[in-house]
Amino acid sequence: MTRATQGREVPSGGVAGGGYPRPANLVTADLTTTDLATTDLATTADDADLEAELAVLVSGAYDRHDGLLERADQLAARASARGRDRYVALAELARADLYNRTRRAPEGARIAQTLLRSTTDNVVAARAHAVISGALWRLGETGESADHAEKAVRLLTDNDPLCLRVDHAIVLATQVHGYRLGGTSVDGFRYAHDLAEKLGDPSLIVANLNNWAWVQYDRGELADAVELVQRMRRVADHTGRQLNASCVDTLARILLESGDAEQATTVILRALDGFAAETESDGIPGCLLTLAEIRRRGGDLDGAISSLTACRDVCAQNKLAEIGARALHELARCYAAVGDYRSAYEHMVSFHGEWTQLRSQQSEVAASVVQAVFDIEEARRRSREYQRLAERDPLTGLWNRRKCEQHLAALLATPVAVRGPVSVAILDLDHFKQINDRFSHSVGDAVLAAMGQVLPETAGPDGLAVRLGGEEFLLILPLDGAAARDHCERVRRGIAAYDWSAVCLDLHVTTSVGVTEIGPDDDYASLLRRADEYLYRAKRLGRDLVVADSGAGGTDR
Ligand code: GH3
Ligand code: MG
Ligand code: MG
Repeated sequence: MTRATQGREVPSGGVAGGGYPRPANLVTADLTTTDLATTDLATTADDADLEAELAVLVSGAYDRHDGLLERADQLAARASARGRDRYVALAELARADLYNRTRRAPEGARIAQTLLRSTTDNVVAARAHAVISGALWRLGETGESADHAEKAVRLLTDNDPLCLRVDHAIVLATQVHGYRLGGTSVDGFRYAHDLAEKLGDPSLIVANLNNWAWVQYDRGELADAVELVQRMRRVADHTGRQLNASCVDTLARILLESGDAEQATTVILRALDGFAAETESDGIPGCLLTLAEIRRRGGDLDGAISSLTACRDVCAQNKLAEIGARALHELARCYAAVGDYRSAYEHMVSFHGEWTQLRSQQSEVAASVVQAVFDIEEARRRSREYQRLAERDPLTGLWNRRKCEQHLAALLATPVAVRGPVSVAILDLDHFKQINDRFSHSVGDAVLAAMGQVLPETAGPDGLAVRLGGEEFLLILPLDGAAARDHCERVRRGIAAYDWSAVCLDLHVTTSVGVTEIGPDDDYASLLRRADEYLYRAKRLGRDLVVADSGAGGTDR
């Protein structure tokens, strides 16, 4: 039977298809693209050669594997010499991907787990998920593998290496169908195709067309499948490449189903003569299996049996249990067709024995991979939660002073040409003591808690809000002094006009603000001192006021 290029057979029968790109019943709740640090790990122009080499490894996995493990090692060494941890990890994951494709899926999964545990880089995490997905897919764990395929896509942004975005889209498109999620969309394949064309990599275009054709064939859309394998052949011909064994197998199946057994035989025999690259270790035995079926259906039972015997030999030499078992099943059908029911029965019994053993071995390994990855993700969730708690003020949920100091220190150390203008505002609620005294301390607390909502809303998407302590807050705004003054004026008015009746009837809250732009000679202390001076000027001038740098639009009072 034909395998999708991703490596394992797409289950036969009518695939129910799948929605793309977000399969509804996959576990995605805790995944956000911002849950890991990426800013300081972004690709730099110096990485162009590393990315180009990565693209060779990603696309090469679908072609001949000759020399790829060595190239992965060389990439790791080069990246390591330059301190580019991302590419060291991606090179290791390229190795893991090759293991996946050569019957070493548990090893591939282990490498990916180790990197997933230690990385803080979303791109590495995405690739690790893709490799874990590939390993689980090959171990028959299609539901879990589709879950990881989705994470592999979702953790990447438009700025990340295109070769990975293409590959992950290919993996997800296939697995969504393998998992038989609802719907019958082939949008995932179309999306992967467009990305692969953008990258201009024929191997990835062919790989995706192969999977797409197989899924359409599997769904009974024969006309579409024929059109897709023709496209696949044209791309291969135009770029002077041979189809790999998996593509040949798909092509032969579709030719056979559309009534052209002769051509199906020709392409398979050419592949068996060594013309096709064997990218998955079961590629050639898979072709032998298909050839046997073509022959059996054409009435050449001796030919079929000899092809299956050859297939069994290759499987025994290479310990390919799954194809080996399928060959037994096909042998039983051949013996039944020639009326040798005793042999047919014996082969069927052997098939069942091998199949059951294989499935139980696979699910044991798959279960341990799933458990290990679950533990890693749980540990990451916990450490993210601890980090969040350490950075936040518990009453308001805003950043605390410590986090603010760290962030401002980083901004102060970055040249203005890189970071753009930044202003800082200190806000202090007016007569807050009276609010406590007149209403109650818990009303005071409720006002502060509400500020945790009001401030981020008014600070805008780029602004950051901090509780410095008591009823004192700070905003960090990506604005110059004049724009920051206008912004703070809106915040001040917003707080004064805010409907506080939900907290307490008759409650009115106002705030005074001191706002200043970071200057070239500022350090943390000088910056906050100046903002504080402006704040106290606002208090002295009667409160419910914004005071800013004197050049910043004339609010200085
Ligand atoms: P001003 O307009 O000059 O800022 O007057 P104020 O009353 O706001 O300033 P003052 O510094 O005199 O008082 C601040 C009050 O804030 C005193 C303190 O009890 C209260 N406060 C500090 N932290 C909290 C808190 O977490 N919850 C509540 N309810 N009150 C707090
Ligand atoms: Mg106050
Ligand atoms: Mg105060």
